[in-house]
Amino acid sequence: MDARSILLIIFDGLGDRPIAELGHKTPLEVAPKPALDWFAANGVNGLLDPIAPGVRPGSDTSHLALFGYDPLKVYTGRGPFEAAGVGIEVGPGDVAFRCNFVTVDGDLNVVDRRAGRIREGTEELAKALDGMKLGRVKVLFRAGTEHRAALVFRGKGLSPQVSDTDPHEHAVKALDSKPLVPKAKATAKALNAFTKEAHKRLKDHPVNAERTARGEMPANLVLARGAGIFPDIEPVTKRYGLKAAGIAGVALIKGMYRAVGIEVLEVPGATGGLDTNMVAKADAALAALRTHDLVVVNVKAADLCGHDGNASGKITVVERIDQMMAAIKANLPQEAVVALTSDHSTPVAIKDHSGDPVPVTIFGEGVRVDDVMAYDERSAAKGGLGRIRGQDLMPILLSLANRGEKYGA
Ligand code: ZN
Ligand code: ZN
Repeated sequence: MDARSILLIIFDGLGDRPIAELGHKTPLEVAPKPALDWFAANGVNGLLDPIAPGVRPGSDTSHLALFGYDPLKVYTGRGPFEAAGVGIEVGPGDVAFRCNFVTVDGDLNVVDRRAGRIREGTEELAKALDGMKLGRVKVLFRAGTEHRAALVFRGKGLSPQVSDTDPHEHAVKALDSKPLVPKAKATAKALNAFTKEAHKRLKDHPVNAERTARGEMPANLVLARGAGIFPDIEPVTKRYGLKAAGIAGVALIKGMYRAVGIEVLEVPGATGGLDTNMVAKADAALAALRTHDLVVVNVKAADLCGHDGNASGKITVVERIDQMMAAIKANLPQEAVVALTSDHSTPVAIKDHSGDPVPVTIFGEGVRVDDVMAYDERSAAKGGLGRIRGQDLMPILLSLANRGEKYGA
């Protein structure tokens, strides 16, 4: 029994519900997609509940489940994963926050929660804050995309049980962080000290002076929310003995990879946006399969169309995904096991993640091929895999890749 490599492709938010304008079909059902259908016709199919039936997953909790972890046990909030995604080496015990660069007036009243949708100069602003010392707490700070940033506190006895400084609305003063449990007092104090010091360092920063001179809003404060402690997760290298690589455009998913020991591969043109170069992702994934046991690809575009309520956009995304799958089909190593699924449905009618299950197809040597001929929600329901949960996927793939551990004698 030779161990095989596993290619797991996650079409973020691709699952949908029937739409009246599409003749009560889903975008997957109406889009032409010969390559996806080929994998379905030559594989085994089913429906997958990322967390559990009816539970609306976040991308982070769902990816944990698809990697075989129980999110209810290991998930501690998205902050730590976003911090890992922008390149902060987060470790157990670190407390991470999601942040926005914002514009405030002299009394710290929030004028704009996105600092005039700032796009440039945030890395320089972040440098002014990174490495700050707040008593015994060390600050790690990185800019993300646009106004987004990640903040990590490192030190002894930190707690994520503190309230946000982000009031989540305009014309309100930046909030004082409050400890939600007595042992979080020092963390709340450090966060409040951070707010003060950040304003001091940012208000006259050259980047902001230039912005003001151009009539743009200065990014003169950072507001924090969603504190989370970095979880102690056994990496896939240890848990399954897999050397793993991952490809993604968005920071959160890169953070998910790093958190579970999946090496992040940077692919030029893989932006995580609608303009992302999917064929470049396919080529990078195929190359990585030669050197890794598990390769994970996240394609974000369908989720963006779902959130925008854009059905025709989602159909276009399916066609582009299909070109990517055609490239993979053409050059797939014979011994690879391929799984095609989503981390959740993002129905265009809802513009958010729903609790609907998603199609899953597994293709590879030895797979018990069923009668399903198409990769879509309706067809998948008739497949041989039946209905599984996100956490079931990794054991099934390991088994098909001849990597499963025997339970019992
Ligand atoms: Zn997602
Ligand atoms: Zn989403």
